[in-house]
Amino acid sequence: MPGIDALADRLSGYLGDEQVNLVRRAYFYAEQAHDGQRRRSGEAYVTHPLAVASILADMHMDHQSLMAAMLHDVIEDTGIAKEALHAQFGESVAELVDGVSKLTQMNFETKAEAQAENFQKMAMAMARDIRVILVKLADRLHNMRTLEVLSGEKRRRIAKETLEIYAPIANRLGMHSMRVEFEDLGFKAMHPMRSERIRAAVRRARGNRKEIVTRIEESLLHCLEREGLSGEVVGREKHLYSIYQKMRGKRKSFNEIMDVYAFRIVVDKVDTCYRVLGAVHNLYKPLPGRFKDYIAIPKANGYQSLHTTLFGMHGVPIEIQIRTREMEEMANNGIAAHWLYKSSEDELPKGNHARARQWVKGVLELQQRAGNSLEFIESVKIDLFPDEVYVFTPKGRIMELPKGSTAVDFAYAVHTDVGNTCIACRINRRLAPLSQALESGSTVEIVSAPGARPNPAWLNFVVTGKARTHIRHALKLQRRSESVNLGERLLNKVLASFETHLDKVPAERQLAVLNEYRLETFDDLLEDIGLGNRMAYVVARRLLASDGEELPNAEGPLAIRGTEGLVLSYAKCCTPIPGDPIVGHLSAGKGMVVHMDTCRNISEVRHNPEKCIQLAWAKDVTGEFNVELRVELEHQRGLIALLAGSVNAADGNIEKISMDERDGRVSVVQLVVSVHDRVHLARVIKKLRTLPGVMRITRTKA
Ligand code: MN
Repeated sequence: MPGIDALADRLSGYLGDEQVNLVRRAYFYAEQAHDGQRRRSGEAYVTHPLAVASILADMHMDHQSLMAAMLHDVIEDTGIAKEALHAQFGESVAELVDGVSKLTQMNFETKAEAQAENFQKMAMAMARDIRVILVKLADRLHNMRTLEVLSGEKRRRIAKETLEIYAPIANRLGMHSMRVEFEDLGFKAMHPMRSERIRAAVRRARGNRKEIVTRIEESLLHCLEREGLSGEVVGREKHLYSIYQKMRGKRKSFNEIMDVYAFRIVVDKVDTCYRVLGAVHNLYKPLPGRFKDYIAIPKANGYQSLHTTLFGMHGVPIEIQIRTREMEEMANNGIAAHWLYKSSEDELPKGNHARARQWVKGVLELQQRAGNSLEFIESVKIDLFPDEVYVFTPKGRIMELPKGSTAVDFAYAVHTDVGNTCIACRINRRLAPLSQALESGSTVEIVSAPGARPNPAWLNFVVTGKARTHIRHALKLQRRSESVNLGERLLNKVLASFETHLDKVPAERQLAVLNEYRLETFDDLLEDIGLGNRMAYVVARRLLASDGEELPNAEGPLAIRGTEGLVLSYAKCCTPIPGDPIVGHLSAGKGMVVHMDTCRNISEVRHNPEKCIQLAWAKDVTGEFNVELRVELEHQRGLIALLAGSVNAADGNIEKISMDERDGRVSVVQLVVSVHDRVHLARVIKKLRTLPGVMRITRTKA
């Protein structure tokens, strides 16, 4: 295991002195943080981050990625906070380390029912920077290389996760070499016997094939020479895991798979690729339908090459791949090749740049031209990391939601009824606000209550169309039934002052009024009244056809029960509570707002029967009502706790508390307390008065 000096030596081949020093600093920081910790193998822990950084150095990754690699287990394993890393190494490195830690914490295995493909997407979505994934892949690669020391069960678990999650991610990113290593190491750990048997069979077959391979290779080289083309011919072998998969998936025998001879011809430029293709088609007959031009049309992960299959001597099938050296680099390292190229020359040559873009374009359909490496990362980030968040249901099912979705969106995505009756949520087993935007990887649990109804405030934060539509619909229904109900009570109250009742109004008279107003149903009329769009007393007079008569004084006020819902609200200016004398102020579209009789805000319209209506509290009024209290008291330690204690002791609930100090001795505290009624309020005030140092308590009314 080479030490940090050896690594620094290699780094100075492509990084500046200052950057190499930063990587060194990160190493020494990690060495200290992990001091005393050992790996399973007995080595000092820091050898692991060093090895991870070394893998990334092979890809010529930038210094920040290398620093993050050095520090990648520091947050997770040593309890050093992200903030500390930020202070030491700056924001980017701290973010990278934090991103890697989050991926590490994510335990894929416990979510047994979840689908692997969604996990890949989730992992991508969780990392905000592509470098997070690359560091994590390097971390996993080193762990896979040193898997032997672990117990059988743990080894299999990590191997399975690697095959299901990390190998496909490497594939998505076009990193073929890493994918192959993941797969072969994973295969070996999962099925040591099968892996060994295939390995031995390949070794044997290689011996038998050697002669034919050499002959084909020679004839290919000869052919290139004859045509004056330069290129390198290499024999290819399938990796063990892909042989295994072919045997299982396509039910082919080992010999069938091994009967194919595969070569790669690597040349200098694109033009040569096509000329080599012509030459080999001239040499051996091509198999119809097997030619593929991935140069003109690259694969989704940016892979480029020409593929063809030939009938060789005695009819042996020969698979040939033809590509340039740069395509070869891209095929092996995928997205990481971008760093590899960029660093090898000072300026980014056009060809390399285009290649990096090609990759991006294939995977991401990138629209804009990326200028520098940071911008490149930026654009990859936007397109590669989807605009979705992936969260778990408590049972481990993965739900895909648009970015910014909240627990309410989640609830409606699960089922409309769950959304409509949801009252609270737990995110990762902790109660959280319904409005909180969800993060990928969280487990979301909805608490619902039968009979609960959607809250109009949800419309301010939901992002999915489904949630929005259903909330609107439910509110509309609710509002309708509530306003119909209130309208009926308002109308009957006026009718009562004429000593009659809606039931006693003849049907033809009702119909006539409906026609007059051009309304369909009587409920529509009642809804209009409840919403404050029509005055109950005007409607009553139309119903009684008593335009000329003077309206007698309303007999007895309308009773408020506290359960009127959306069409009735309590004024914020005077915060009336049961027991206070009240009036109702009707405003069009908003329904009725309950004010205190003495509220200054309505003094001008107080006696206008079209705007205001006498109200009373019903005997069985229910609910909690907020009042604001102003308490002046001597300043003392633990004052808030004392106040809260007394309010609590009187069964009140503090909704809000604020305090200003008046002159060092006296404090003024504003309390918003919820109570049932005036009697209850009196009890709260009485309790507060017993506190030492209390001088004055007043109920504030704007
Ligand atoms: Mn690690």
